Amino acid sequence: MKNKADVIIIGAGISGLVCALESLRQGKKVIILDAQSRERAGGLARVAFGGMALIDTPEQKSKGIRDSAEIAFNDWCSFAEFGLKDHWPKQWAKYYTENSISEIYEYVKSLGLKFLPAVNWVERGLYTPGNSLPRYHILWGASLRLVTQLIKQLAEYENNLLTYQFQCRATKLIKTADSIIGCCATNKQHQEVEYYAEAVVVASGGFTGNLDKVRQEWPEDWGEPQAGLLNGTHPSNDGKMHDCVEDIGGQTSNMHNMWNYAAGIPNPNADFENHGLSLIPPRSAIWIDNKGHRIGPEPLVSSFDTMHMCRQINRLQIPHSWQIMNRRIALKELAISGSEHNTAIRDRQFITMLKEVLLGNKKLVDKMLRESDHFIQADKLEDLVPKMNNLTPNSPVSFDALKNTLDRFDQVVSRKESLWNDDQLRRIMSIRKWGTDKLRACYPKPIQGGTPLIAIKLNLITRKCLGGIKTDLSCRVLNMAEQPIKGLYAIGEASGFGGGGTNGKRSLEGTFLSGCILTARQAARSI
Ligand SMILES: Cc1cc2nc3c(=O)[nH]c(=O)nc-3n(C[C@H](O)[C@H](O)[C@H](O)COP(=O)(O)OP(=O)(O)OC[C@H]3O[C@@H](n4cnc5c(N)ncnc54)[C@H](O)[C@@H]3O)c2cc1C
Repeated sequence: MKNKADVIIIGAGISGLVCALESLRQGKKVIILDAQSRERAGGLARVAFGGMALIDTPEQKSKGIRDSAEIAFNDWCSFAEFGLKDHWPKQWAKYYTENSISEIYEYVKSLGLKFLPAVNWVERGLYTPGNSLPRYHILWGASLRLVTQLIKQLAEYENNLLTYQFQCRATKLIKTADSIIGCCATNKQHQEVEYYAEAVVVASGGFTGNLDKVRQEWPEDWGEPQAGLLNGTHPSNDGKMHDCVEDIGGQTSNMHNMWNYAAGIPNPNADFENHGLSLIPPRSAIWIDNKGHRIGPEPLVSSFDTMHMCRQINRLQIPHSWQIMNRRIALKELAISGSEHNTAIRDRQFITMLKEVLLGNKKLVDKMLRESDHFIQADKLEDLVPKMNNLTPNSPVSFDALKNTLDRFDQVVSRKESLWNDDQLRRIMSIRKWGTDKLRACYPKPIQGGTPLIAIKLNLITRKCLGGIKTDLSCRVLNMAEQPIKGLYAIGEASGFGGGGTNGKRSLEGTFLSGCILTARQAARSI
């Protein structure tokens, strides 16, 4: 029968593709359904950057970093702040930290990919300790290359053990008295079809592409979600499969834990409503509220605690924030998350990448100034502020407030280094001590001393779901009594990267693509 297989995988993102390949290698017959077209196979990994948190790698060792599963697990638990009900999320964290080399690093290498030799130090922690060591590794070729390699390997099984059904949306899980035996779907021709298998794997990603659901799950202690919230994923990440799992008695958990970012702008080449780009916010820029006051008491500097930063901004209940910098800072520090704006890495152009790092990313800064009305440039503050206020007439920046903010900062930074007394400067100087990060953090100088000045209008942007469908270590979906539901599995972002929320409240960063690989391989093994 055409619609019958050993395994049905709902979602052809990175987790679905890995699970399919590993199941096919065991000789299983697989059907992959995806709501999108074939060109989008790979899901978010097509556009992701390719950063991965890995522990005790040769790249770390060559930099003199002595990491271990134990150190990483402690860092992970500190940042996650697991609750009493987080037994399985914690088990997954342990499994990740103990097996990142064999399950992720070596797997990726076996597919013909390499990591850049540099190891970055992200999410160091602010008031809550984070990564006590650098462990953020970057895939050469970005995750798009990982997708391409997987699709190539999967092609060997097509017309034989593997069937793809693109533009085919799963709408319901089919349940007998004690197990899941398949799913209903709407196919390309808008017909209702049924697929049957011994095992159904939900690999449908998170729900952060559905802003209504994001608002519904928004953490209560953050205040109302910012009105201009942007969509940092894709509308197909709508969370409908989470609902389907709940409909048959499956459990979801930690849905209010989300990994949003603080520096979103509308995508000038938007593919869908509210489509945003997530900037890597320059650390030397001054982050101000909508009126022109520096946000505090602790200044906002990325690389320490992304969740804290988003919460701090959201709690201000302001319509947007701004970053103020000069061109020198923008050239060295501005970046945009994802492969689309990191083409030198995606296309493996080593010399171009080196030039961008050493000489500044002029191409990116000029492109944004040209294409995005959220990027504003002027030689003098007197000209910058009116331009900013043209963009936000209902919420104008006060020239005096902004001038005062910048003057105070510039006054401090104009003194000799031993007289610097500012938390942002302390953190920049600490960042600059780690060689790789120094390349992307300017030596502090007065902001108004370098022209032109640049202002960027920012909104919060959604990205990853930290919570999701609750699973055990075999990726079996658990019911409300914490018992596995026969025949039903969940992997990748749909499962909160394992257990329904293995990152807890915060990720050490780069635990997502890797978490997809980890859970997908484990599911294929246990089916
Ligand atoms: C710009 C960007 C940069 C990123 N950078 C990084 C990074 O550097 N490091 C990192 O670790 N992570 C990163 N991420 C996150 C990472 O890419 C995702 O967490 C990961 O790719 C999720 O994979 P997935 O397979 O679980 O889900 P997805 O990639 O979301 O795939 C799910 C698939 O399921 C399909 N689907 C959904 N519902 C249905 C349905 N009902 N029926 C059929 N099909 C359905 C969707 O069409 C989609 O193709 C980034 C994300 C973005 C957007």
